[in-house]
Amino acid sequence: MDQNRLYYQYPYIKKFTGTVTSCRESKKGTWLVRLSQTAFYPEGGGQPSDRGTLGGARVLSVHEREGEIDHEVDQPLAPGTEAEGILDWQYRMDNMQQHTGEHILSGLIHRRFGYDNVGFHMGSEEVTIDFNGLLSQEDLDQLENEANALVYADTKLRIWYPGREELAALDYRSKKELTGLVRIVEIPGGDICACCGTHVERTGEVGIIKIRGMIHYKGGVRLSILCGRRALEDYRQRLNDATEISVLLSAKLGKVPEAVRKLKEESQRQAAAISGLYRQLFALKAETYPESEEVLAVFEEGLSPVQLRQFATLLYEEGKGSVAGVFSEDENGAFQYALGSSRFDMRGLSRGMNQRLNGRGGGSSLMAQGTFRAGREEIEAAFFEEARRYPNK
Ligand SMILES: [Zn+2]
Repeated sequence: MDQNRLYYQYPYIKKFTGTVTSCRESKKGTWLVRLSQTAFYPEGGGQPSDRGTLGGARVLSVHEREGEIDHEVDQPLAPGTEAEGILDWQYRMDNMQQHTGEHILSGLIHRRFGYDNVGFHMGSEEVTIDFNGLLSQEDLDQLENEANALVYADTKLRIWYPGREELAALDYRSKKELTGLVRIVEIPGGDICACCGTHVERTGEVGIIKIRGMIHYKGGVRLSILCGRRALEDYRQRLNDATEISVLLSAKLGKVPEAVRKLKEESQRQAAAISGLYRQLFALKAETYPESEEVLAVFEEGLSPVQLRQFATLLYEEGKGSVAGVFSEDENGAFQYALGSSRFDMRGLSRGMNQRLNGRGGGSSLMAQGTFRAGREEIEAAFFEEARRYPNK
Protein backbone atom coordinates (compact mmCIF):
# COMPACT_ATOMS: atom_id res chain seq x y z
CA MET A 1 0.00 0.00 0.00
CA ASP A 2 1.17 3.45 -0.93
CA GLN A 3 2.38 5.12 2.30
CA ASN A 4 1.73 8.66 1.03
CA ARG A 5 -1.99 8.09 0.51
CA LEU A 6 -3.24 9.23 3.87
CA TYR A 7 -6.91 8.72 2.94
CA TYR A 8 -6.29 4.95 3.03
CA GLN A 9 -4.26 4.84 6.24
CA TYR A 10 -6.43 7.38 8.06
CA PRO A 11 -9.81 7.62 6.33
CA TYR A 12 -11.00 10.18 8.90
CA ILE A 13 -8.08 12.59 8.53
CA LYS A 14 -9.41 16.09 7.85
CA LYS A 15 -6.20 18.11 7.85
CA PHE A 16 -2.59 17.29 6.90
CA THR A 17 0.65 18.88 5.75
CA GLY A 18 2.57 17.82 2.65
CA THR A 19 5.59 19.12 0.75
CA VAL A 20 4.88 20.49 -2.72
CA THR A 21 6.98 18.34 -5.08
CA SER A 22 5.81 19.96 -8.32
CA CYS A 23 3.42 22.58 -9.65
CA ARG A 24 2.56 23.10 -13.31
CA GLU A 25 -0.04 25.16 -15.13
CA SER A 26 -2.89 23.25 -16.77
CA LYS A 27 -4.43 24.04 -20.17
CA LYS A 28 -7.41 25.50 -18.31
CA GLY A 29 -5.24 28.09 -16.56
CA THR A 30 -5.49 26.25 -13.24
CA TRP A 31 -2.53 24.62 -11.46
CA LEU A 32 -1.68 20.95 -10.95
CA VAL A 33 0.15 20.31 -7.70
CA ARG A 34 1.82 17.10 -6.53
CA LEU A 35 2.60 16.46 -2.88
CA SER A 36 4.87 14.22 -0.81
CA GLN A 37 1.68 12.85 0.82
CA THR A 38 -2.01 13.63 0.59
CA ALA A 39 -5.38 13.04 2.24
CA PHE A 40 -7.32 14.23 -0.83
CA TYR A 41 -9.06 11.27 -2.46
CA PRO A 42 -8.67 11.25 -6.26
CA GLU A 43 -11.78 10.49 -8.33
CA GLY A 44 -12.18 6.75 -8.85
CA GLY A 45 -14.40 3.72 -8.38
CA GLY A 46 -17.53 5.84 -8.78
CA GLN A 47 -16.54 8.14 -5.92
CA PRO A 48 -15.90 11.80 -6.79
CA SER A 49 -12.67 13.51 -5.77
CA ASP A 50 -12.38 15.44 -2.51
CA ARG A 51 -12.74 19.18 -2.22
CA GLY A 52 -11.15 21.63 0.19
CA THR A 53 -8.14 23.94 0.33
CA LEU A 54 -4.43 23.37 -0.14
CA GLY A 55 -1.95 26.03 1.03
CA GLY A 56 -4.84 28.53 0.89
CA ALA A 57 -5.69 27.61 -2.73
CA ARG A 58 -9.01 26.06 -3.59
CA VAL A 59 -8.88 22.36 -4.56
CA LEU A 60 -11.06 22.03 -7.67
CA SER A 61 -10.48 18.37 -8.51
CA VAL A 62 -8.07 15.54 -7.71
CA HIS A 63 -7.03 12.97 -10.29
CA GLU A 64 -4.61 10.09 -10.43
CA ARG A 65 -2.28 10.11 -13.47
CA GLU A 66 0.39 7.46 -14.02
CA GLY A 67 0.35 6.52 -10.35
CA GLU A 68 0.73 10.14 -9.22
CA ILE A 69 -1.95 12.35 -7.71
CA ASP A 70 -2.61 15.75 -9.30
CA HIS A 71 -4.41 18.32 -7.16
CA GLU A 72 -6.01 20.90 -9.44
CA VAL A 73 -5.95 24.23 -7.58
CA ASP A 74 -6.78 27.84 -8.44
CA GLN A 75 -3.40 29.35 -7.44
CA PRO A 76 0.19 28.20 -7.94
CA LEU A 77 2.10 26.76 -4.96
CA ALA A 78 5.90 26.96 -4.72
CA PRO A 79 7.71 23.61 -5.00
CA GLY A 80 9.69 22.74 -1.88
CA THR A 81 7.29 24.53 0.46
CA GLU A 82 4.99 22.88 2.97
CA ALA A 83 1.29 23.17 2.24
CA GLU A 84 -1.55 22.52 4.64
CA GLY A 85 -4.45 20.59 3.17
CA ILE A 86 -7.93 20.97 4.69
CA LEU A 87 -10.68 18.68 3.43
CA ASP A 88 -14.28 19.74 2.92
CA TRP A 89 -15.20 17.15 5.52
CA GLN A 90 -18.95 17.22 5.16
CA TYR A 91 -18.63 16.54 1.46
CA ARG A 92 -16.22 13.62 2.04
CA MET A 93 -18.32 12.15 4.87
CA ASP A 94 -21.42 12.41 2.67
CA ASN A 95 -19.56 10.51 -0.06
CA MET A 96 -18.40 7.83 2.38
CA GLN A 97 -21.98 7.34 3.57
CA GLN A 98 -23.19 6.98 -0.04
CA HIS A 99 -20.34 4.65 -0.99
CA THR A 100 -20.68 2.27 1.96
CA GLY A 101 -24.47 2.31 1.55
CA GLU A 102 -24.04 1.41 -2.10
CA HIS A 103 -21.84 -1.57 -1.18
CA ILE A 104 -24.39 -2.84 1.36
CA LEU A 105 -27.22 -2.69 -1.16
CA SER A 106 -25.20 -4.04 -4.13
CA GLY A 107 -23.92 -6.90 -1.95
CA LEU A 108 -27.44 -7.87 -0.86
CA ILE A 109 -28.76 -7.75 -4.43
CA HIS A 110 -25.82 -9.83 -5.64
CA ARG A 111 -26.35 -12.44 -2.90
CA ARG A 112 -30.09 -12.71 -3.35
CA PHE A 113 -30.49 -12.32 -7.12
CA GLY A 114 -26.99 -12.86 -8.53
CA TYR A 115 -27.10 -9.49 -10.32
CA ASP A 116 -23.98 -7.39 -10.81
CA ASN A 117 -23.58 -3.70 -10.24
CA VAL A 118 -22.75 -2.65 -13.81
CA GLY A 119 -22.79 1.12 -13.36
CA PHE A 120 -22.36 3.45 -10.41
CA HIS A 121 -22.59 7.22 -10.32
CA MET A 122 -22.29 9.30 -7.17
CA GLY A 123 -23.61 12.81 -7.75
CA SER A 124 -24.25 15.28 -4.95
CA GLU A 125 -28.00 15.26 -5.67
CA GLU A 126 -28.45 11.58 -6.34
CA VAL A 127 -26.60 8.27 -6.45
CA THR A 128 -27.50 5.80 -9.20
CA ILE A 129 -26.63 2.10 -9.40
CA ASP A 130 -27.33 -0.07 -12.45
CA PHE A 131 -28.00 -3.79 -12.14
CA ASN A 132 -28.18 -6.36 -14.95
CA GLY A 133 -31.50 -7.88 -13.90
CA LEU A 134 -35.04 -6.91 -12.98
CA LEU A 135 -36.47 -6.19 -9.53
CA SER A 136 -40.04 -5.65 -8.35
CA GLN A 137 -41.27 -2.99 -5.95
CA GLU A 138 -41.73 -5.73 -3.37
CA ASP A 139 -38.08 -6.79 -3.83
CA LEU A 140 -36.99 -3.19 -3.31
CA ASP A 141 -38.94 -2.86 -0.06
CA GLN A 142 -37.40 -6.06 1.27
CA LEU A 143 -33.89 -5.11 0.17
CA GLU A 144 -34.26 -1.69 1.75
CA ASN A 145 -35.30 -3.31 5.05
CA GLU A 146 -32.39 -5.73 4.96
CA ALA A 147 -29.88 -3.03 4.03
CA ASN A 148 -31.03 -0.85 6.92
CA ALA A 149 -30.94 -3.83 9.30
CA LEU A 150 -27.21 -4.03 8.48
CA VAL A 151 -26.94 -0.32 9.31
CA TYR A 152 -28.66 -0.83 12.69
CA ALA A 153 -26.30 -3.77 13.42
CA ASP A 154 -23.43 -1.23 13.32
CA THR A 155 -20.95 -3.80 11.99
CA LYS A 156 -17.28 -2.89 11.65
CA LEU A 157 -16.00 -2.93 8.06
CA ARG A 158 -12.88 -4.89 7.23
CA ILE A 159 -10.56 -3.45 4.60
CA TRP A 160 -7.43 -5.37 3.62
CA TYR A 161 -5.08 -6.48 0.88
CA PRO A 162 -5.17 -10.28 0.63
CA GLY A 163 -2.25 -12.28 -0.73
CA ARG A 164 -2.53 -14.03 -4.09
CA GLU A 165 -3.74 -17.36 -2.72
CA GLU A 166 -6.20 -15.86 -0.29
CA LEU A 167 -7.59 -13.67 -3.07
CA ALA A 168 -7.95 -16.64 -5.42
CA ALA A 169 -10.04 -18.44 -2.79
CA LEU A 170 -12.14 -15.36 -2.01
CA ASP A 171 -15.62 -14.91 -3.48
CA TYR A 172 -15.83 -11.16 -4.04
CA ARG A 173 -17.61 -8.74 -6.32
CA SER A 174 -15.45 -6.94 -8.86
CA LYS A 175 -16.17 -4.77 -11.91
CA LYS A 176 -13.06 -5.85 -13.83
CA GLU A 177 -10.20 -8.33 -13.85
CA LEU A 178 -7.74 -7.01 -11.31
CA THR A 179 -3.98 -7.37 -11.31
CA GLY A 180 -1.43 -6.53 -8.62
CA LEU A 181 -2.47 -5.67 -5.09
CA VAL A 182 -6.25 -5.83 -4.66
CA ARG A 183 -7.99 -3.85 -1.95
CA ILE A 184 -10.93 -5.73 -0.47
CA VAL A 185 -13.77 -4.05 1.41
CA GLU A 186 -15.84 -6.48 3.47
CA ILE A 187 -19.08 -5.72 5.25
CA PRO A 188 -19.49 -8.84 7.41
CA GLY A 189 -22.89 -10.39 6.72
CA GLY A 190 -23.44 -8.16 3.69
CA ASP A 191 -20.76 -7.86 1.05
CA ILE A 192 -17.21 -8.53 -0.11
CA CYS A 193 -16.02 -6.30 -2.91
CA ALA A 194 -12.82 -5.05 -4.54
CA CYS A 195 -12.84 -1.27 -4.13
CA CYS A 196 -10.47 1.70 -4.16
CA GLY A 197 -12.85 4.12 -2.44
CA THR A 198 -13.08 5.50 1.08
CA HIS A 199 -15.59 4.05 3.53
CA VAL A 200 -17.01 4.69 6.99
CA GLU A 201 -15.59 2.53 9.77
CA ARG A 202 -18.89 1.03 10.94
CA THR A 203 -22.15 0.47 9.06
CA GLY A 204 -24.08 2.49 11.66
CA GLU A 205 -22.42 5.65 10.33
CA VAL A 206 -24.29 5.23 7.03
CA GLY A 207 -27.35 6.40 9.00
CA ILE A 208 -30.02 5.32 6.53
CA ILE A 209 -30.18 3.73 3.08
CA LYS A 210 -33.17 4.92 1.05
CA ILE A 211 -34.10 3.71 -2.42
CA ARG A 212 -35.79 6.71 -4.03
CA GLY A 213 -36.75 5.26 -7.39
CA MET A 214 -36.24 2.59 -10.02
CA ILE A 215 -36.39 2.74 -13.80
CA HIS A 216 -35.85 0.03 -16.40
CA TYR A 217 -32.45 0.52 -17.96
CA LYS A 218 -30.56 -1.49 -20.61
CA GLY A 219 -32.41 -4.73 -19.86
CA GLY A 220 -31.90 -4.29 -16.11
CA VAL A 221 -32.74 -1.58 -13.62
CA ARG A 222 -31.28 1.73 -12.48
CA LEU A 223 -31.82 2.46 -8.79
CA SER A 224 -31.62 5.94 -7.39
CA ILE A 225 -30.57 5.94 -3.75
CA LEU A 226 -29.52 8.35 -1.01
CA CYS A 227 -27.79 7.57 2.27
CA GLY A 228 -27.03 9.33 5.54
CA ARG A 229 -27.20 13.12 5.80
CA ARG A 230 -28.20 13.55 2.16
CA ALA A 231 -31.16 11.20 2.70
CA LEU A 232 -32.17 13.24 5.75
CA GLU A 233 -32.00 16.49 3.74
CA ASP A 234 -34.03 14.88 0.98
CA TYR A 235 -36.63 13.70 3.52
CA ARG A 236 -36.81 17.20 5.02
CA GLN A 237 -37.31 18.76 1.58
CA ARG A 238 -40.00 16.26 0.60
CA LEU A 239 -41.85 16.64 3.89
CA ASN A 240 -41.77 20.44 3.51
CA ASP A 241 -43.18 20.10 -0.01
CA ALA A 242 -45.88 17.67 1.12
CA THR A 243 -46.82 19.94 4.06
CA GLU A 244 -47.07 22.96 1.78
CA ILE A 245 -49.30 21.01 -0.61
CA SER A 246 -51.48 19.75 2.25
CA VAL A 247 -51.99 23.35 3.47
CA LEU A 248 -52.88 24.49 -0.07
CA LEU A 249 -55.40 21.65 -0.35
CA SER A 250 -56.64 21.94 3.26
CA ALA A 251 -56.10 18.19 3.52
CA LYS A 252 -54.23 16.14 6.10
CA LEU A 253 -50.77 14.94 4.98
CA GLY A 254 -51.91 11.33 4.48
CA LYS A 255 -54.95 12.48 2.50
CA VAL A 256 -53.06 14.54 -0.09
CA PRO A 257 -53.24 12.02 -2.98
CA GLU A 258 -57.00 11.64 -2.47
CA ALA A 259 -57.47 15.43 -2.36
CA VAL A 260 -55.45 15.87 -5.57
CA ARG A 261 -57.52 13.17 -7.32
CA LYS A 262 -60.73 14.96 -6.33
CA LEU A 263 -59.36 18.32 -7.44
CA LYS A 264 -58.39 16.88 -10.80
CA GLU A 265 -61.80 15.30 -11.32
CA GLU A 266 -63.48 18.58 -10.38
CA SER A 267 -61.30 20.51 -12.80
CA GLN A 268 -62.11 18.04 -15.62
CA ARG A 269 -65.85 18.43 -14.87
CA GLN A 270 -65.49 22.22 -14.98
CA ALA A 271 -63.52 22.12 -18.23
CA ALA A 272 -66.25 20.00 -19.83
CA ALA A 273 -68.96 22.39 -18.58
CA ILE A 274 -67.07 25.45 -19.85
CA SER A 275 -66.50 23.82 -23.20
CA GLY A 276 -70.26 23.11 -23.45
CA LEU A 277 -71.08 26.72 -22.59
CA TYR A 278 -68.63 27.99 -25.22
CA ARG A 279 -70.22 25.73 -27.81
CA GLN A 280 -73.61 27.28 -27.03
CA LEU A 281 -72.11 30.77 -27.06
CA PHE A 282 -70.45 30.19 -30.46
CA ALA A 283 -73.73 28.84 -31.87
CA LEU A 284 -75.61 31.96 -30.67
CA LYS A 285 -72.92 34.27 -32.02
CA ALA A 286 -72.81 32.43 -35.34
CA GLU A 287 -76.56 33.00 -35.74
CA THR A 288 -75.97 36.76 -35.73
CA TYR A 289 -73.98 36.51 -39.00
CA PRO A 290 -75.92 36.10 -42.25
CA GLU A 291 -75.02 33.37 -44.69
CA SER A 292 -72.53 34.84 -47.13
CA GLU A 293 -69.99 34.13 -49.88
CA GLU A 294 -67.78 36.94 -48.61
CA VAL A 295 -64.79 36.44 -46.34
CA LEU A 296 -65.62 36.88 -42.64
CA ALA A 297 -63.30 38.29 -39.95
CA VAL A 298 -64.32 37.97 -36.30
CA PHE A 299 -62.40 39.39 -33.33
CA GLU A 300 -63.14 37.87 -29.93
CA GLU A 301 -61.39 38.34 -26.62
CA GLY A 302 -59.82 35.63 -24.49
CA LEU A 303 -60.22 32.56 -26.69
CA SER A 304 -57.88 29.61 -26.43
CA PRO A 305 -56.48 27.97 -29.61
CA VAL A 306 -59.02 25.14 -29.24
CA GLN A 307 -61.90 27.61 -28.93
CA LEU A 308 -60.65 29.63 -31.93
CA ARG A 309 -60.70 26.46 -33.99
CA GLN A 310 -64.21 25.50 -32.77
CA PHE A 311 -65.64 28.91 -33.62
CA ALA A 312 -63.96 29.20 -37.04
CA THR A 313 -65.14 25.68 -37.95
CA LEU A 314 -68.71 26.47 -36.94
CA LEU A 315 -68.69 29.70 -38.98
CA TYR A 316 -67.50 28.21 -42.26
CA GLU A 317 -69.55 25.02 -41.87
CA GLU A 318 -72.70 27.07 -41.42
CA GLY A 319 -71.87 29.08 -44.56
CA LYS A 320 -71.29 32.41 -42.82
CA GLY A 321 -68.37 33.11 -45.12
CA SER A 322 -66.27 31.51 -47.84
CA VAL A 323 -63.36 31.92 -45.42
CA ALA A 324 -63.82 32.45 -41.67
CA GLY A 325 -60.98 34.08 -39.74
CA VAL A 326 -61.26 34.28 -35.95
CA PHE A 327 -58.70 36.36 -34.05
CA SER A 328 -58.11 36.78 -30.34
CA GLU A 329 -55.52 38.98 -28.63
CA ASP A 330 -53.42 37.13 -26.05
CA GLU A 331 -51.77 38.47 -22.86
CA ASN A 332 -48.57 39.31 -24.79
CA GLY A 333 -50.40 41.63 -27.17
CA ALA A 334 -50.12 39.20 -30.09
CA PHE A 335 -53.17 37.82 -31.91
CA GLN A 336 -53.92 34.10 -32.01
CA TYR A 337 -55.69 33.12 -35.19
CA ALA A 338 -57.74 30.35 -36.77
CA LEU A 339 -58.52 30.42 -40.50
CA GLY A 340 -61.09 27.96 -41.79
CA SER A 341 -62.69 27.20 -45.15
CA SER A 342 -64.15 24.18 -46.89
CA ARG A 343 -63.51 25.73 -50.30
CA PHE A 344 -60.02 27.21 -50.29
CA ASP A 345 -56.62 26.10 -49.10
CA MET A 346 -55.90 27.70 -45.72
CA ARG A 347 -52.19 26.83 -45.80
CA GLY A 348 -51.61 29.37 -48.58
CA LEU A 349 -53.59 32.07 -46.80
CA SER A 350 -51.78 31.47 -43.54
CA ARG A 351 -48.39 31.59 -45.30
CA GLY A 352 -49.22 34.90 -46.99
CA MET A 353 -50.54 36.49 -43.80
CA ASN A 354 -47.64 35.20 -41.69
CA GLN A 355 -45.25 36.97 -44.04
CA ARG A 356 -47.06 40.28 -43.81
CA LEU A 357 -47.87 40.17 -40.11
CA ASN A 358 -44.66 38.77 -38.61
CA GLY A 359 -46.62 35.61 -37.88
CA ARG A 360 -46.10 31.92 -37.49
CA GLY A 361 -48.21 28.81 -37.73
CA GLY A 362 -49.92 26.66 -40.35
CA GLY A 363 -52.15 23.64 -40.58
CA SER A 364 -54.26 21.75 -43.12
CA SER A 365 -56.15 22.93 -46.19
CA LEU A 366 -59.32 23.21 -44.05
CA MET A 367 -57.86 24.93 -41.00
CA ALA A 368 -54.71 26.93 -40.20
CA GLN A 369 -53.77 28.26 -36.76
CA GLY A 370 -50.99 30.42 -35.37
CA THR A 371 -50.01 33.85 -34.08
CA PHE A 372 -49.63 37.28 -35.69
CA ARG A 373 -47.47 39.97 -34.14
CA ALA A 374 -49.47 42.89 -35.47
CA GLY A 375 -52.42 45.14 -34.56
CA ARG A 376 -56.09 44.56 -35.35
CA GLU A 377 -56.26 47.00 -38.29
CA GLU A 378 -53.22 45.53 -39.99
CA ILE A 379 -54.66 42.05 -39.54
CA GLU A 380 -58.00 43.05 -41.04
CA ALA A 381 -56.35 44.74 -44.03
CA ALA A 382 -54.03 41.79 -44.68
CA PHE A 383 -56.82 39.25 -44.25
CA PHE A 384 -59.14 40.85 -46.81
CA GLU A 385 -56.33 41.45 -49.34
CA GLU A 386 -54.70 38.03 -49.00
CA ALA A 387 -58.00 36.15 -48.97
CA ARG A 388 -58.58 37.28 -52.57
CA ARG A 389 -55.14 36.13 -53.63
CA TYR A 390 -54.55 32.68 -52.14
CA PRO A 391 -54.80 29.73 -54.52
CA ASN A 392 -58.05 27.85 -54.85
CA LYS A 393 -58.04 24.11 -54.05
ZN1 LIG B 1 -16.70 0.71 -3.92
